[in-house]
Amino acid sequence: MPKPHPVVFSVDWNACIRCGACVAVCPQAAGFTTPFDTIAVDTPCDIACMACEKICPVTAIAWRAAIPQRGAHPERTLSERSESKRKSKERVAGAGSSGIKA
Ligand code: SF4
Ligand code: SF4
Repeated sequence: MPKPHPVVFSVDWNACIRCGACVAVCPQAAGFTTPFDTIAVDTPCDIACMACEKICPVTAIAWRAAIPQRGAHPERTLSERSESKRKSKERVAGAGSSGIKA
């Protein structure tokens, strides 16, 4: 699957060993970091070289698309998706009982 641009990272703080490797390898401007010596989280990275993710020795870095891709909603949570699906089913069921086609 082609990698989307830009991307936003998150770090599994329970797995991260604060080695700083992700920051050391990152070509982003200075300051694209957290207070824990990792690459910035919840901030879009438009370079998206993914070197930080690859170098992490404990695979603590995860990423998602910073902007929704066509036909997908990567920033929506699973519960939001379930709720949306449920409402959609209710609308179809409601339309069916009133004789209106969805
Ligand atoms: S993807 Fe590349 S530029 Fe972006 S934070 Fe990771 S190492 Fe830095
Ligand atoms: S490379 Fe991985 S383990 Fe090292 S500081 Fe970055 S997120 Fe933490």
